[in-house]
Amino acid sequence: MFDRNPSGKKINMKVERNEEIFWTCPFCALVCDGLPSPFFKDGLIENLPSCQKAEIGLKKALTKSTKKDLAFGRKKFINLPNAIEQIRSKLRKNERIFISGLGVDVAGAREVVKLACKFNAVVDHKYGDILSKVSKSIQNKGALFCSLSEVKKRADLLIFLGTIPNIRTPRLLDRIEKEGPGNSKKEKYIIGDASWSEEVMLLKLQKLSAFISTSDKQYLDDDLELLMNKIDGSKYTAIIWDPNFYSDYAEDIAILLVEIVRHLNVNYRVSILTLGGDEGSLTMQNVMVWMTGLPLRSKFSLGNLDYDPHRFTLSSLLKKKEIDTVVWISCFSDDLDDSLDLSEISLILIGHKNYGNKLDKIMSRTKELIYIPVATNGIGASGYLMRGDGVSIIPLCKLVTDGLMTVDSVIKELLGEKEEGYGDV
Ligand code: SF4
Repeated sequence: MFDRNPSGKKINMKVERNEEIFWTCPFCALVCDGLPSPFFKDGLIENLPSCQKAEIGLKKALTKSTKKDLAFGRKKFINLPNAIEQIRSKLRKNERIFISGLGVDVAGAREVVKLACKFNAVVDHKYGDILSKVSKSIQNKGALFCSLSEVKKRADLLIFLGTIPNIRTPRLLDRIEKEGPGNSKKEKYIIGDASWSEEVMLLKLQKLSAFISTSDKQYLDDDLELLMNKIDGSKYTAIIWDPNFYSDYAEDIAILLVEIVRHLNVNYRVSILTLGGDEGSLTMQNVMVWMTGLPLRSKFSLGNLDYDPHRFTLSSLLKKKEIDTVVWISCFSDDLDDSLDLSEISLILIGHKNYGNKLDKIMSRTKELIYIPVATNGIGASGYLMRGDGVSIIPLCKLVTDGLMTVDSVIKELLGEKEEGYGDV
């Protein structure tokens, strides 16, 4: 059976100039708002933002493909009701379900929690490793974070770890400096450089922490002395770091930074801007906590919730063969970690339409595949995303009409919410 799109209607992708003058980009943790709204003219995207990452995300989400709008069940294309029914029956039958990916907006995240609760699933984001390390540091030591707006308006000194993180968050400095009062440049200091290993950075921060808490100058080398002089001469210092650069020691570094800033704040004004939140990770983490009281890497079980950040990871449960179904939900990207061994599981893919161009490859990795393409919030649908500072929820506007359902509407169908009035967890 072969339909033109999941809803059974003929696809007529309508791409026109958005009535909004401004656009909000969903493709990294900065969730930049106030960008000129892109639009199609003569088959080309005009008004592209001056950010390569946004450009790549836009082009992927807007490029037409032969298979992007088709639901796919087992080994053939099917219509949406059929795909929904196949997924429902799979979830009812299978008992060891892991929901991951989780590139979703706030509404999608809410439905994910309900889905996990209904089918007793484990939930974790694809960036769960870093997310759980930073969460553990907050659980242990608390947080002394600031918002992006605070850095823009108040900081006069920016301290970075290793490098200015302008690959993962390309417009970071533009946002801090150009959007700040007076459009002024801020002083910058980088601790170490990009070649430093995680261990070397950790050691440097340990020395800094030791000096700040004891005032013993034996811990000060030339670099740290210069750094302390700069902090001494500034009114407001922001320490900006991206935990994704420190996959092994993110938790230790986060704890050390809190210790350093806690002591420094006795005499100075210093804060931390932690850049997390790519692909809806902070959105999903926060919605999970709002709704259940516990973070991701938790397992629902007959109305109870078991949180275990070491045990409930997708790669380890796949290795131990403790799951039979993976529900991978991802509306912002078309990635599916190549290192995951999916050969013995059923894969339910609720994702970016560009997965449609990769179905043969994905199917060759799994025992069974059911795929429903969904709109990207901020492109084919409106929505809300939490910015990487973990403080602001940013509205996303719809840019084009592509005829695809959103993640939350697909999950509502799966839950039969409209018919059965399935309530909050
Ligand atoms: S910096 Fe990030 S959010 Fe801003 S335009 Fe680039 S990809 Fe989009």
